[in-house]
Amino acid sequence: MESLSHVVGYDIPAQVGMSFSEVQTPCLILDLEAFEGNLRHMGQLAAKLGVRLRPHGKMHKSADVARQQALIGGAQGICCQKVSEAEAFVRAGIADVLVSNQARGTVKIDRLAQLPLMGAKVAVCVDDLPNVAELSTATQNHATKLGVLVEIDCGAGRCGVATPQQAVEIARAVVAAPGLRFEGIQAYHGSIQHVADFKERETAFRGVDEKVRSVLGALSEAQIPCGTVTGGGTGSFQFEAQSGLYTELQCGSYAFMDADYGRIDSANGARLDETFKNALFLLTSVMSKPKSGLAICDAGLKVQSVDSGLPEVFDCEGVSYAACSDEHGTLKDPNDTLLIGDQIRLVPGHCDPTCNLHDWYVGMRGDVVECLWPITARGKAF
Ligand SMILES: *Cc1c(COP(=O)(O)O)cnc(C)c1O
Repeated sequence: MESLSHVVGYDIPAQVGMSFSEVQTPCLILDLEAFEGNLRHMGQLAAKLGVRLRPHGKMHKSADVARQQALIGGAQGICCQKVSEAEAFVRAGIADVLVSNQARGTVKIDRLAQLPLMGAKVAVCVDDLPNVAELSTATQNHATKLGVLVEIDCGAGRCGVATPQQAVEIARAVVAAPGLRFEGIQAYHGSIQHVADFKERETAFRGVDEKVRSVLGALSEAQIPCGTVTGGGTGSFQFEAQSGLYTELQCGSYAFMDADYGRIDSANGARLDETFKNALFLLTSVMSKPKSGLAICDAGLKVQSVDSGLPEVFDCEGVSYAACSDEHGTLKDPNDTLLIGDQIRLVPGHCDPTCNLHDWYVGMRGDVVECLWPITARGKAF
């Protein structure tokens, strides 16, 4: 690390070798034991279920995390949601990236078409014909190739074509377009991921697999080979894998987990955070104890997203996080156990948008800082 430009307490929260009490708050810490366990577990599940794993990088936005996912969890490439995010990963050396989203606009498409020049295999989703032509023009301009997947709306009501006929029409155009390589389809159902009850989630998935089956049937009838069927998230991946239709999973949050995912059931009825452990924490310190029953900490809205609820206090009996403003968090401390300066670990409500607010992950093994990982694609929203 270029140590001259990095000063603890100014632009970095910690240095390798420091102990917990020296880490500057608020900051994001990773429990490396839990993190590595999650990667290993998902890697084993994917292998057992016979599908590839392409974890979603939009969650962590870190090339170091992506490298660990490949190394420890057997991941084959990553997903990104934005072209600039993909570019940040490719510049950091990640060699296989799927933009699991549409790239629109001349500038973005032009940048996307140049990414293979940096040595990466790059693919993108499309859901209409003009986009196929735009991508083909850009790749021809740069003499590159992009993989293309047709996105199916399998019920989430986001991007994606509605009918098998549309999917075939676009796939045909991709097959015929210079500079493009038809790879298959994406069918990701975002809105079933957080349904708390496992059975309800399973029922909701039935519509998804019917939709995917009908698209695969239509492609096969049109004699268009479909190599990849990609989708699935932390809440649904068993269903995609067990359908026999999907070849690749895109789970993201499993690596870190958050309070919202922690609360959903797994197949055995237990909370999901018993299967995938909380590895991401917002480390905060008590900065004021203005009156009995109350403590104020230094983690407010600017260091976390509360769209999926407030954070949960980890490992601190009786204390709860009750409210936040820009820079302050209000802790209920009914037994007055907290002291000024005490550090508390919070489990963020929603990991993805929380990570995007920070520059660094502080990797801890036990009480010691083992690594400091930049959040490579932080703020890369174009
Ligand atoms: C967010 C996202 C995922 C990963 O979802 P998690 O719930 O974080 O596991 C996968 N695929 C797509 C297209 C996504 O947008």
